[in-house]
Amino acid sequence: MTQPIQALNILGAQTPTSTSSAPAAETSPAEGDTVHQVVIVGSGPAGYTAAIYAARAEMNPIVIAGALDAGGALMTTTDVENYPGFAEGIQGPELMTAMQEQAERFGAEIIFEDAVDLQIEGPVKTVTLDDGTVYRAKTLIISTGSAYRKLGIDGESRLSGKGVSWCATCDGFFFKDQDIVVVGGGDSAVEEATFLTRFGKNVTLVHRRDELRASKIMARRAEADPKLQFQWNSEVVSINGIDKVESVTLRDTLTGEERDLPTSAVFEAIGHIPRTELLEGKLELDEQGYIVVQGRSTYTSVAGVFAAGDVVDHTYRQAVTAAGTGCQAALDAERWLTDQAALTTADVQDPMTTAAEAVPTDESNPISGTDESVSVTLPSGR
Ligand SMILES: Cc1cc2nc3c(=O)[nH]c(=O)nc-3n(C[C@H](O)[C@H](O)[C@H](O)COP(=O)(O)OP(=O)(O)OC[C@H]3O[C@@H](n4cnc5c(N)ncnc54)[C@H](O)[C@@H]3O)c2cc1C
Repeated sequence: MTQPIQALNILGAQTPTSTSSAPAAETSPAEGDTVHQVVIVGSGPAGYTAAIYAARAEMNPIVIAGALDAGGALMTTTDVENYPGFAEGIQGPELMTAMQEQAERFGAEIIFEDAVDLQIEGPVKTVTLDDGTVYRAKTLIISTGSAYRKLGIDGESRLSGKGVSWCATCDGFFFKDQDIVVVGGGDSAVEEATFLTRFGKNVTLVHRRDELRASKIMARRAEADPKLQFQWNSEVVSINGIDKVESVTLRDTLTGEERDLPTSAVFEAIGHIPRTELLEGKLELDEQGYIVVQGRSTYTSVAGVFAAGDVVDHTYRQAVTAAGTGCQAALDAERWLTDQAALTTADVQDPMTTAAEAVPTDESNPISGTDESVSVTLPSGR
């Protein structure tokens, strides 16, 4: 079972360093400051993987890692047993330290501060940090992840990783032949509960209402599952146990009556909060606040801005999928920069080309408007 650890900056927090020595950066006379090829915001599996690829493509990436959450969600867990390449599993912080070191080995510069403002329109984007430093870049990769929504009840934090979990795929395996409670009533709660029936002796779905919010087909399938029970009109008011989860206290939402239900595990499936508050009104987000990307790419609605990892992903939310899209984002950004450089060269060669045509637009995005007919040239340096 994943165990919680202190999510402090155990990647070896460093003071932010000056960026002015990055060799591939240019100086923008208009700004009087360095314009980097790429700034990556976020240092989970998506951000660090993007940094590894961008650094190996000689883009000299800057990674804005976050002040306290550097390393991302896996810094808060112990055993990661499903990341490929580690037959015996690996501790979350160990995996993230290795990713950080791998990115640094190829020249990525990691800044342990929070971004507090992003200006993403136009050919030069800016990232303002908590300490007031402003980074300028031709491309941005957003990989700020998403947070699990929590119940905020007694016992939840104390028993997190000791039976309280937010990820059935990650932790279901640890509860073979035991009683499991799942909290929630939407599609993901039903999906988690159904998945957990392959491990648990019994799985009880606790929901505040008297019917599921999940889609009809999923709800029907769940209700027909013999290993799945339902506690309708019930909310969990506390999670009980000393060193591990032993029971939950349920309150009837109609009568207010309380009772204990023995269980070894509580999976909370009440939603996610994508970390996109800095982007509201600046690029296309979906109704739940996730960044919308075009087709299978990492192109966002704004030219030169790419997004990867859980901040885009409603569905999979795994370290390996985040890392995969981080790789894609670096490849997309590199390709986009190459296209911009080609446009500028054409501009110089053809004096009839107007300045407006040289400014990056959606037309220079090879995936704009089409999902499938995309041919991506892989960047050099990998
Ligand atoms: C307890 C737990 C256990 C898990 N176990 C597993 C597992 O066993 N296997 C598995 O595959 N997955 C597991 N997951 C899921 C996995 O951790 C995520 O899918 C993955 O970390 C997502 O990667 P990401 O890079 O998109 O985002 P994250 O890892 O969430 O990283 C986001 C990054 O963005 C940074 N950030 C956010 N806002 C800002 C800002 N304004 N300025 C600067 N930086 C910012 C944060 O500091 C952080 O570094 C687990 C998750 C949790 C919480």
